[in-house]
Amino acid sequence: MKILVIEQSRVQQIILRALFKEEELLPDFVSNLAEAKEAIKDNDYDFIFTSYSLPDGSGIELAQYVRKQEIERPGVVLLTTEDKRSILNEALSAGITRIIFRANTAELQLFIRELADSDFDTQPLTGNILYIEDDPVVSKVIIAMLSEHNFKCTSATSGEDGLALFSEHSFDLVIADFFLVGNLNGLDIVNSIRQMGGKKSRTPIMVLSAQSADDRKIEILRCGANDYIAKPILEEELLVRATNLITQKKLFDRVDSQREQLRELAMTDQLTTLYNRHFLVRFAPKRLAEALRHRYSLSLLVIDIDHFKEINDTYGHEAGDSVLKEIANTLKRGCRKEDIAIRLGGEEFLLLLPHCGEKDAIKKAEHLRQQMEMLNPDGIPVTASFGVTCLDGAEYTSKKKRVDFSTMFVAADTAVYQAKNQGRNRTAFVPISSK
Ligand code: GH3
Ligand code: MG
Ligand code: MG
Ligand code: MG
Repeated sequence: MKILVIEQSRVQQIILRALFKEEELLPDFVSNLAEAKEAIKDNDYDFIFTSYSLPDGSGIELAQYVRKQEIERPGVVLLTTEDKRSILNEALSAGITRIIFRANTAELQLFIRELADSDFDTQPLTGNILYIEDDPVVSKVIIAMLSEHNFKCTSATSGEDGLALFSEHSFDLVIADFFLVGNLNGLDIVNSIRQMGGKKSRTPIMVLSAQSADDRKIEILRCGANDYIAKPILEEELLVRATNLITQKKLFDRVDSQREQLRELAMTDQLTTLYNRHFLVRFAPKRLAEALRHRYSLSLLVIDIDHFKEINDTYGHEAGDSVLKEIANTLKRGCRKEDIAIRLGGEEFLLLLPHCGEKDAIKKAEHLRQQMEMLNPDGIPVTASFGVTCLDGAEYTSKKKRVDFSTMFVAADTAVYQAKNQGRNRTAFVPISSK
């Protein structure tokens, strides 16, 4: 990724360099328009960041120059200190891809982070927009405007219809007129969406309204709208603001999914890809509560490999690891979709089996035990001891008996201990001791 930065101020250069460096990007820096033109001749830049005011011209002139060159067009990002409509219009007609206000360092940082991801492309942004507008003339113009710039527009003429569409589909942006036919206005739409809860309620919303309504503007923003545009609507302004809101939403969506992946990773055992203890702590109590509420059985198997230390000592730690993987695969294969297989740590595993009574649990344990005995991974003989316990959800609920997951676990763990004492490679059952 080749980046050029045109920035006259030394201080700004240092700040920008640091921001790029965080993402391991090393842009070329020049300090005026003339130098920038030279640099562009000699290099294929993917992105150009330029200050709005330059000592020998402006960022706008630079963008116009870039557009005239016979080169693969790089994205041009304009960094400005002022949020002026005049700049906006100028910038868009000069072909600037993105305007970032210097004060908004977080936005700049996010943008650079996104650039650093290799899958970033300079293709125009697309997005699903819900547009709620009761004036058919305005509606037609704006839909045409948005569609021309690759946005997919779904429209509604009343707040009621708009909210119905919103709850059925997923949108990257909602644009709502303030005054609408029917009982809901733009403010009501913002309120309804923000109160829905969950991820959907954070969808960006832009409200459109008549020009001189400063009080209303504050009220609308305070209610949780992300942006506000006064009518008559300038095409450029609408497009820039919509693009910014949608870009931000997409960045946040990505951050959300990365966070989800991290959460997954934190709950997964790397060697075996089974869930780990963290997952158990988080989800076992929920499964137990469900079994009690819906009155079904929940069984728990604790599995401990026999003399695993000797396997390590005899065949080496790596061979030990591959035995653990094979055992984990055997457990996975033996599981139904709703069963949960966990590596507790070391050579100990756990299975949580919803809708599985005592008899079936013992049968399942015996079946798995035999499979492990026959496994012989890499010619290494392996056996394991199984401890089983079972909760009868119906009985516990009707007799109002209390039980928690750790009580259940103690029972299964005690059962493993018994199996070990009785000579290993066997299954033992211990009932839950109720309080
Ligand atoms: P028992 O039949 O009584 O269960 O004997 P054991 O040897 O299986 O039990 P013990 O708890 O004494 O030893 C467990 C061994 O498992 C000790 C440890 O080095 C080994 N171990 C724990 N985690 C791993 C791992 O991730 N990979 C390998 N290869 N070995 C591990
Ligand atoms: Mg209206
Ligand atoms: Mg052990
Ligand atoms: Mg063991």
